[in-house]
Amino acid sequence: IVEKYRQLPEDAAFFSLEFFPPKTETGLRNLMARLGRMSALNPMFVTVTWGAGGSTQSKTLELAATCQKELGLTTCLHLTCTNTDREKIDHALKTAKDNGIKNILALRGDPPRGEDLGSGSGEFRYAVDLVRYIRKHYGDYFCIGVAGYPEGHVEGSDDSEQSVEHDFPYLVEKLNAGADFLVTQLFFDVDKFLEYEKKVKSCKEIKNAKDLLILPGLMPINGYQLFNRAAKLSHASVPKEIQDRFPDSIQGDDNKVKEVGVQVLIEMIDKIYGNSDKKIRGFHFYTLNLEKSIAEIIDRSPVLSKILENDDVENAIDEDVDAD
Ligand code: FAD
Repeated sequence: IVEKYRQLPEDAAFFSLEFFPPKTETGLRNLMARLGRMSALNPMFVTVTWGAGGSTQSKTLELAATCQKELGLTTCLHLTCTNTDREKIDHALKTAKDNGIKNILALRGDPPRGEDLGSGSGEFRYAVDLVRYIRKHYGDYFCIGVAGYPEGHVEGSDDSEQSVEHDFPYLVEKLNAGADFLVTQLFFDVDKFLEYEKKVKSCKEIKNAKDLLILPGLMPINGYQLFNRAAKLSHASVPKEIQDRFPDSIQGDDNKVKEVGVQVLIEMIDKIYGNSDKKIRGFHFYTLNLEKSIAEIIDRSPVLSKILENDDVENAIDEDVDAD
């Protein structure tokens, strides 16, 4: 990922897409068709999520291998290290390597429902332990990404420690342990993201902070309830000016909400690109395995539409059914 990024012209924008492995065969079939269309949009890379404690291990590895080998997409495998053991981690890393996957998003993860954080072998406590493990056993083979939280990370329901200041020393630690890039939690408050970006880039304790690739995590707004739920689960604040774009009169109309949502995301991308002095030019989309809003955002965004060379978008827009 970082190699590809460095080869881009200085002001070229790009985007990446996150997918999760569907639970059912129908969901997988729909996703495969969608992936074919969405790869025509020219994402710089795609990522595949990893279920808590390795719960989606085989489906995640299969989907990631398909993306890399069959679709020829630069693929990044998410990997979590809590509530699991070394064997599962070794298996994931070896399978990734065997399938030509060169990028890992190294995460701590959360415990599966009903388990306490840290049960398992206990060898990996935080994401930094996984970053160190990968560097120790695989040298520079993998390009490693880590997660960042522009509004601070929250442990479970405990909001008391949600602050960028609380996480910051640990972010520095995992970056210096050998991470190459940073992908943020989804957010809607661009000012908070820009503040965070500035803090990271100007931090003298982070090696090569100035050149660090930071990808803002963006989630298209596909329905009002889903939007509120995602913001709540991710502890992302929604600025009043965005909340006001969804008055009571449209909240029940998914088409209208999507339409406004597309415009909101385009404005967020514009603001990030403009205010980061074009230093932030890659945008990571949490797709939720849906394509319509993303294809429209890319098509209509003054920053991202330049990537499209033909009428790929027409082909990419499908009804978002059975996303599983
Ligand atoms: P860490 O960086 O380890 O941080 C976790 C917490 O511990 C933070 O509060 C931090 O401040 C604290 N901390 C870190 N190091 C120390 C230390 N040495 N001492 C004390 N405290 C410390 N989850 C999944 O299950 N699957 C996925 O595929 C997935 N993908 C994600 C993708 C992105 C881009 C993001 C932002 C999150 C993703 N998550 C995923 C969620 C993630 O696993 C959770 O947010 C998890 O709670 C934290 O993971 P982390 O890697 O940020 O942890």
